[in-house]
Amino acid sequence: MNKLEQLNFTNTFIQLGQEFYQAKAPDPVSEPYLVDFNPDAAELIGLDPAESKRPEFAEYFGGNKLLPGSDPLAMVYCGHQFGVYNPRIGDGRGLLLGEVTNGNGHKWDIHLKGSGPTRFARGFDGRATLRASIREYLGQEALHGLGIPTTRSLAIVGIRELIYREMPELAAVLVRLSDSHVRFGSFEAYLYLNQPKRITELADYVIHHHHADIEQEADKHRILFRRVLQKTAHLIACWQSVGFIHGVMNTDNMCITGATFDYGPYGFMDQFNPHFTPNHSDASGRYAFAKQPEIGHWNLWKFGETLAHLVAPAVLQEELEQYQPTYNQLYREKMAKKLGLAVLDAEFSQLMGNLFKLLHDNPVDYSNFFRTLSQFPDGDYKPLLNPFVNQKDIEDWMSQYGRLIEREGLSDDERRQTMNRANPKFILRNYLLQRAIDKAVKEADFSEIERLRVLLADPFQDRPEVFKRYNIDAEFYASDTPDSLLDMQLSCSA
Ligand code: AMP
Ligand code: MG
Repeated sequence: MNKLEQLNFTNTFIQLGQEFYQAKAPDPVSEPYLVDFNPDAAELIGLDPAESKRPEFAEYFGGNKLLPGSDPLAMVYCGHQFGVYNPRIGDGRGLLLGEVTNGNGHKWDIHLKGSGPTRFARGFDGRATLRASIREYLGQEALHGLGIPTTRSLAIVGIRELIYREMPELAAVLVRLSDSHVRFGSFEAYLYLNQPKRITELADYVIHHHHADIEQEADKHRILFRRVLQKTAHLIACWQSVGFIHGVMNTDNMCITGATFDYGPYGFMDQFNPHFTPNHSDASGRYAFAKQPEIGHWNLWKFGETLAHLVAPAVLQEELEQYQPTYNQLYREKMAKKLGLAVLDAEFSQLMGNLFKLLHDNPVDYSNFFRTLSQFPDGDYKPLLNPFVNQKDIEDWMSQYGRLIEREGLSDDERRQTMNRANPKFILRNYLLQRAIDKAVKEADFSEIERLRVLLADPFQDRPEVFKRYNIDAEFYASDTPDSLLDMQLSCSA
């Protein structure tokens, strides 16, 4: 385990050349302080967790001191925002410090979000609110706990500076870790600048660092596209199965490694509603829950266009056609696990179709429905029937479900275990997240952030000793969202 000054930095992105970034140090801040530290993330970069106790920790990650070996830069990127190309994006308030290699040889980018304006800031202040930083930090841990690819964060560092959004707000720096900060939009930047050579360099960079096994292949760029497509389809299948809505699936928020990236007005669905988006600014519902899979396809098409000088368009098209079947298969597998089933045939499709109709027509908590269903047929599953307006409909569905269970011949115990590994008991409900933010912002009490971080690290089971230590009331956190707090929406401002 390393001290801060011993972190093993390399700076491969810099080697791509100056067209890819602006070199810039973080802007100094006054009195940076630690809001929360994530020991699990520290382990990823081989950092001794005791280092978080040193005053230098907040100095380094708040931006007042440069970590030895780091070489900060703001990355160039562009992208399609709500379907419209924006040629001026880039890291307006973020800096890549470099990559840190851990003891297993794994590399993690360390990125400061909210570290002052860069030349891509477009007149904005280069800062991030404490509120949005807490949202990103806990969203990452929630998805990671669910086994979904995501960036992580080492810490939130508060800074004593008021910034202005709809009103004055506290600011913070988020110390984000990712296996890559290259986005679909990083490629798009050079397509619109008509610099195909840069695209080739970037593609070869991504292959070298993330797909070294295909580096010698003649059609390596085609394989790169295929892999990005598969990872993206996998990511979105994960989101759909747990009811996660990213909220802003612009191409500059799509990471080339298929991790959940750039958390804004995201949310978990309370009750099943395909048209729901937590993003208040998305009036047309472009990024609503049920639209995410097709937006994934649209974004991959935009990424594919940037490779047209490397892979024949007809070949890219052929690859792109694999998206829908790949996604469908992955999604169906995930939904089958949620139901404790394994045979993905027409009867299963019918069962799913009937279930979605029922969930759509009744006020049922999406996550808790599946969790409680594992108690069927001889446990305490009856509470899940309550919200259904017409009892006969749900009873019919339960008997259809019962027939498929019998057909597969798993014991109730085995099925329950599968289901309880697929259906979380705890999810990051928006109102729980908002409680943590309110306590932090209004009372400077960060204990609820820690509590949620610990709880969501393993959302599939009770851990009585841990819960006792952190004063976690499991039944409170596992309950349905109160009616008055359902389907909260947030603005994009961050
Ligand atoms: P985001 O909504 O965080 O994905 O940001 C979209 C773009 O706006 C990115 O280029 C950000 O760097 C930039 N941006 C957002 N907020 C700020 C800010 N306060 N200062 C400078 N740039 C920002
Ligand atoms: Mg973004």
